[in-house]
Amino acid sequence: MARRVDASTEVVLGGERSDTAVGRLGHPDKSPRVANRALHAGAAESSSFDTVSRYFDVAADRLGISDGLRSVVRTAEREVQVQVPIKFGDAGTHVFSGYRVQHNGARGPYKGGIRYHERINLDEVRALAALMSWKTAIVDVPFGGAKGGVNCPVRDLDEAELESITRGFVDKISHVLGPTRDIPAPDVNTNARVMAWLMDEYGKLHGDTPAVVTGKPVSLGGSVGREAATGRGVVYAYREAARSLGLHPDVTRVAVQGFGNVGSWAARLITQFGCRLVAVSNSSGAVHSDAGIDPDHLSRHLADGGRLLDYPDAAGAVGVEAIAPAELIAVDCEVLIPAALGGTIHSANAGCVRARIVIEGANNPTTPAADQILSDSGVLVVPDVLANAGGVIVSYFEWAQNLQHFSWDEREVNDRLGKRIRRAYRTVEERASARHVSLRVAAYELGIERIIEAGRLRGHRGYT
Ligand code: NAD
Repeated sequence: MARRVDASTEVVLGGERSDTAVGRLGHPDKSPRVANRALHAGAAESSSFDTVSRYFDVAADRLGISDGLRSVVRTAEREVQVQVPIKFGDAGTHVFSGYRVQHNGARGPYKGGIRYHERINLDEVRALAALMSWKTAIVDVPFGGAKGGVNCPVRDLDEAELESITRGFVDKISHVLGPTRDIPAPDVNTNARVMAWLMDEYGKLHGDTPAVVTGKPVSLGGSVGREAATGRGVVYAYREAARSLGLHPDVTRVAVQGFGNVGSWAARLITQFGCRLVAVSNSSGAVHSDAGIDPDHLSRHLADGGRLLDYPDAAGAVGVEAIAPAELIAVDCEVLIPAALGGTIHSANAGCVRARIVIEGANNPTTPAADQILSDSGVLVVPDVLANAGGVIVSYFEWAQNLQHFSWDEREVNDRLGKRIRRAYRTVEERASARHVSLRVAAYELGIERIIEAGRLRGHRGYT
């Protein structure tokens, strides 16, 4: 069923909830004040920023960009690191580190998600901010790129603590945010609820401003279709890739790594389109079924507090068996959707991939070494900067609706999303085919060219 994978390289996150705040936090914050490395399995061969820089360099070399301009475009325009102190009752005060990196604003206000994860650091946020710059340019939305995060252990925090962290973080960075400056959105471990607190805190300081954040609850000015947008965009990208390979949904088996916002929506929508979901993993485990897994049934199991590990025993989960999480990558399938964290496809497991298409729902899931292995094996990789752009496209729609005090219906949002993903995919595909390069190289070339053109037209220092 699945090829063996070296389990020692698997990423293991989170863990059981600890009993006390002291037990869960233990020591004062030791976050570095400079970029640090080694976050995940792929980090052993390439840190997140090294990965993004490597992909950037390949495209920049091909475009013949001078060293000076390369430095300007590659590095972040602004990096903010702040302390976020939280009082934990008897356990005392703990200081978390919060980051906001504004990578490039040549094409418009900075745009990018906020991630809560105990191992987030400046290097990771820098990399994710740069990816956002390329992504917004590739799908041609009028934004630059940014990213933010707080290094807090979400699973060990209750709702009041999360709210306190969010408000504390916003208080420290609100001066660099704003609907014409920098517009956050949800990412790993943040959601519409967190965005509502963010909007509210920003509003207390600057007056009510719904357009300062996207991915809000619909009742507070969020857009219908935003929650599913990244997963839906992944499925639109699958349709384009399947078209070019002549792959029919009836014979398409799909494995999804990560069953959060992106993974669960991609799983639900791709099965609606006729494909069969044969494997799913999350941070608690992985399951497999040749006969197919019902993503709605699985979502209900998880929403009711069940763990993925226990899903094979759930009523109605017929033919589902547990597998080692590391084996998900190697499951026999046509489409693999990494939708968890960065660096999960690396040199030690890329050779085990059996899928014909890898659609990068996650940001930065494939290290450069793994990318080369996949390419040599003839696997079509739809890169993150294209495949998971559905979220930022609908965020753009949400922002535009907020600015006009107007709202569209879900059909209009989804149709517009589909048009934009198709257009971007075909533009990238044509370029890749004309220049005999991968979709990733073509996408990076396109994004970098558009950013440089915008910087030049504005007369930004360093571009001319
Ligand atoms: P999420 O927090 O909703 O879900 C993350 C999922 O990954 C969870 O199911 C978690 O259990 C799982 N996971 C964590 N570590 C894992 C591991 N080692 N193996 C398997 N599963 C693991 O986050 P999300 O919003 O769905 O984001 C997922 C990825 O997609 C991230 O890389 C994020 O940057 C990217 N992304 C998200 C959006 C968005 O709109 N939310 C947009 C673009 C890109």
